[in-house]
Amino acid sequence: MGQGYFVTGTDTGVGKTTVSCALLRAFAAQGKKAVGMKPVVAGNENGRWHDVEQLIAASNISVTREYINPYAFDSPVSPHIAAQQAGVEIDLAVIQRAYQTLNSQTDVVIVEGAGGFLVPLNAQQTGVDLARALNLPVILVVGMRLGCLNHALLTAQAIKTAGLILAGWVANCIDPQMLMLEENITTLEQRLDCPLLGVMPFDLEMDIQKSIELLEITKLGLFCDIDDSMQFELSHDKRNISGDDLLSDLRRVASIQLEQQVKQQNYRNQGKFGVTTIIRRFGSWNAAVDAAGLETTVERNISNEKLFTALYELWIALGRQPNYSEVQKPACKFHVATFERRFGSWRQALEAFVSYANSENMIVPIDKGSSVVASRQTTRCPDLRLRFKVLQRDRFCCCACGASPSITPGIVLEIDHIKPWSKGGETVIENLQTLCASCNQGKTNDY
Ligand SMILES: [Zn+2]
Repeated sequence: MGQGYFVTGTDTGVGKTTVSCALLRAFAAQGKKAVGMKPVVAGNENGRWHDVEQLIAASNISVTREYINPYAFDSPVSPHIAAQQAGVEIDLAVIQRAYQTLNSQTDVVIVEGAGGFLVPLNAQQTGVDLARALNLPVILVVGMRLGCLNHALLTAQAIKTAGLILAGWVANCIDPQMLMLEENITTLEQRLDCPLLGVMPFDLEMDIQKSIELLEITKLGLFCDIDDSMQFELSHDKRNISGDDLLSDLRRVASIQLEQQVKQQNYRNQGKFGVTTIIRRFGSWNAAVDAAGLETTVERNISNEKLFTALYELWIALGRQPNYSEVQKPACKFHVATFERRFGSWRQALEAFVSYANSENMIVPIDKGSSVVASRQTTRCPDLRLRFKVLQRDRFCCCACGASPSITPGIVLEIDHIKPWSKGGETVIENLQTLCASCNQGKTNDY
């Protein structure tokens, strides 16, 4: 059995075929038997379907065309319309069988989708259903031009929602006039949760050898299909998998499942590596789950207050609003999926926290029985909301020296009474300030 990849693009005409051909040649250069597949093609010129011809030319084994391209239509229109005109219904089962045939004869199958990821294929199904039916890691070709950031992020989101792996992306520079090309590539590198496999320059004369060199397919190495049953044959490859790779895949599966606890059974279905490989590396399944920062046992009925406290601690440690990817142990004791399940999404969790923090403080009744506090309006310790308001007002910077964890990671911020509570200062926002731990040294910690 070989490995397959599904190549999709931010739009039609962004260079999926060019990239697919470069991938095929790069795998062939590694001595792999590689074949291209174009399940659906629409639009022929003089009796030829160029995408299919190019994929065949870039493949290093020859296979019957009906497997490489089960559906070919004449009109250069959306596949479902072209199929309707031709009186045909595209059937994913036919494509699945053709893929399995190719897969059984090769090491690598590069499947090139039609158009963008959500292009309709028949009355009900789209390219998403095709990618899911084949259950392949996806490679996203981003046609670099104005508007591509939105298209790329939407496509990445659709891939994630479909439960598929985004294995890598390629920046294909299709617009020689594009402004701020580098900045756009950097933006996507920061926001797409997968490796950039290469940047294809705008170069119509680019030769084949150059296009191979521009793609780093070793970055896809993680996605080699390693099955427990192949443990011994592949022991050499396994040594190259780092512990970090194993842990990040565990986290990926946790996020797909929106589970704070990953069970072995679920990992078997959706993980890239063998369960035994993970257990061997970390000693036990729970040790691996723990090392990945996930929960080894499900804590039920976690209160919102607890989640907000964890979020507050993360926020103050960073000195700014935490990103999705920063919600990890040890900085945050709960998995991001816990927030997602409770509030719907990470964004909604943040919104719930901010509106909680900005709501009115609850009046904490003073215990009149205590002689110390008999004359006081407020308790010594500001509650979570008040602390957060002080931090917000002070922009997460030390009022004495200006230090902030957002600029200098590791700076610890504390909330300090301006007029000490012991000398009659009340715990109200006007009498509180943010200080870094070193400026606050010598004073009693307030909470
Ligand atoms: Zn300071």
